[in-house]
Amino acid sequence: MDQKKIIIDCEKCRGSGECIKVCPEKAISLKNGKAVIDYNKCDFDGICIPACPHQAISFRP
Ligand code: SF4
Repeated sequence: MDQKKIIIDCEKCRGSGECIKVCPEKAISLKNGKAVIDYNKCDFDGICIPACPHQAISFRP
């Protein structure tokens, strides 16, 4: 079981797409104006976390 997971808080996400630009795996896309992670592509490097101007992305608590 993999405990590592990146989550996007839908309440905070404004759909700026900054995370999409930095993700090396192209794992993030916008759906209905919100960022969504494809966990089949995400390698949990955390690069998208500081890229979000709204602090919407974090490791799962
Ligand atoms: S953790 Fe890395 S691979 Fe996963 S969505 Fe964020 S930038 Fe992409």
